[in-house]
Amino acid sequence: MYIVPEAAIGDLITAEASFEAVESVFGAMSRGDAYNFPVIREAIGHADALYGFKSGFDRAGLALGLKSGGFWPGNMEKGLTNHQSTVFLFNADTGQCKAVIGGNLLTALRTAAASAVSIKHLAPKDSKVLGMIGAGHQSAFQMKAAVQQREFEKVIGWNYHPEMLSRLGDTARELGLPFEAVDLDRLGAESDVIISITSSFDAILKDAQVTRPMHIACMGTDTKGKQEVEAALVARATVFTDEIAQSISLGEAQHAVANGTKAEADIVEIGKVINGDHAGRTSDDELTLFDGTGVGLQDLAVADAVLNIAIEKGIAIEVDF
Ligand code: NAD
Repeated sequence: MYIVPEAAIGDLITAEASFEAVESVFGAMSRGDAYNFPVIREAIGHADALYGFKSGFDRAGLALGLKSGGFWPGNMEKGLTNHQSTVFLFNADTGQCKAVIGGNLLTALRTAAASAVSIKHLAPKDSKVLGMIGAGHQSAFQMKAAVQQREFEKVIGWNYHPEMLSRLGDTARELGLPFEAVDLDRLGAESDVIISITSSFDAILKDAQVTRPMHIACMGTDTKGKQEVEAALVARATVFTDEIAQSISLGEAQHAVANGTKAEADIVEIGKVINGDHAGRTSDDELTLFDGTGVGLQDLAVADAVLNIAIEKGIAIEVDF
């Protein structure tokens, strides 16, 4: 089996390769070629940690495995990232462990790739203004992946903790784009695309604040009880998601489905759009929303891509196991 250490990942996979891997596996999910197993996530009663597994199997690409890890809130003080994850890949023919791969950077890349896939397929074609809600670790990856999909001319942003907004300004500058911190009224009135990536448990963006057609990618809500936008906004949008079962139970759509304003049957898998089985955005006046809940198959797809490159470049460490 092979080991690909976390420190090696940055040199092995690009945002573009992550995009391709994620777009392809979303398509495979919709064709029924790939499926995710039930997610396990538990508070372990130690170090305030949340720990779990996301796993699945892609029958077409033969990626079988799991991502294990979670959230350790005390890690920052120890100089470590709070989110910790490791991907394990198995040989689909024999069940033998094929590889252990650092999953921290891969998580950010695969999550950014998911919203970028949604922007490619759903955002207004002439989108110029990218709105960001959230300025945490993931936000920079999100912005970098998004700007590959449209000719954005400006980034505007809001964050619950204003002192963190410099991350958005620095990232925009790196990308050669102007950045302006704005309030949520302006964000909803001026953006063509909004990405939200926060750990909020209350609606940040209100329905009345979104006063123009746009595409919204809600990427932060991945747990029961979390929420980034008002349920009424989800109710009036055409909603797409990575996986419907997660969208209605732990994704952004959970609240509108629970209060009866959005029907599960009206939520569309993004894979259908990728495969040409759904038109996606059908008019310039439409409000589209992608509920990116994060599935194990995304992790396996990018980890598999990394493993192949690592073996090719002689970077994967081979061990008898
Ligand atoms: P981070 O800790 O670096 O940043 C957290 C962000 O949330 C910051 O912008 C912070 O200001 C904001 N925030 C914190 N408390 C808030 C509150 N009460 N109201 C509004 N905003 C608040 O985290 P990160 O690594 O950037 O991740 C952000 C979120 O994305 C997390 O909730 C994480 O679970 C989620 N996530 C989702 C996926 C997915 O696939 N959907 C993948 C990775 C992370």
